[in-house]
Amino acid sequence: MTRTFRRFPLVLAGPSGTGKTTLARALVEQTPGYCFSVSATTRAPRQDEKDGVDYIFVDRPRFAAMIAAGELVEWAEVHGQMYGTPISALEGPGARGEQVVLDIDVQGARQIRDTIDHALLVFVLPPSVSELMSRLTGRGTENGRAMARRLRTAMDELVALPDFDYVVVNDDLERCLGEIRSIVQAESRRTARAETLEDDAEAMRAEIGRILQNEYATIID
Ligand code: 5GP
Repeated sequence: MTRTFRRFPLVLAGPSGTGKTTLARALVEQTPGYCFSVSATTRAPRQDEKDGVDYIFVDRPRFAAMIAAGELVEWAEVHGQMYGTPISALEGPGARGEQVVLDIDVQGARQIRDTIDHALLVFVLPPSVSELMSRLTGRGTENGRAMARRLRTAMDELVALPDFDYVVVNDDLERCLGEIRSIVQAESRRTARAETLEDDAEAMRAEIGRILQNEYATIID
């Protein structure tokens, strides 16, 4: 008897500086069968970022064309730049049975909730506000104005926490990765995600019925 469970995208979202990109990357690198959803963005590549690997880097007209062509499953403006998830980033890997991991902002996660009802949404919290600020400063790209903008966005994003399925605190990378894997594992065994559940149960009932009739007919009431 084969039981198939419907694959679902795993969305990691939370304020900038929570370390969700590091988490998402480590999760994909360390876990067989997991793959990363590569987003499209209008922002310029940072040092060491590769086109097609970290992001698909596009200009604004191309991004607008992707929206118009219905190529993006969600998109949002984050800190003045456009970011979006291509449908192709979910469909191909999903069909191959891979666990797709999305690293997106909270607005995007909410859109995913509305369009892909079987998606699994995990909110990533920083261990503390001071840790969040030091992670943002540590990037070396934050001036005072940019820091204030990111903190204000974080304040707004925290309101959405109850809309998520799970929350993890990213205080220790390995522990947090373990928690996320456990969440995915448990979620993949939800009865609602089992495609053949009713057939399986029916087949088992029929088999038990046959055994009862053939082997126990004389001794049951
Ligand atoms: P960064 O520019 O630092 O790589 O990302 C800025 C923010 O955009 C992060 O919170 C990141 O998770 C988010 N982001 C990256 N890709 C996407 C996407 O496809 N859609 C949405 N909505 N947000 C994204």
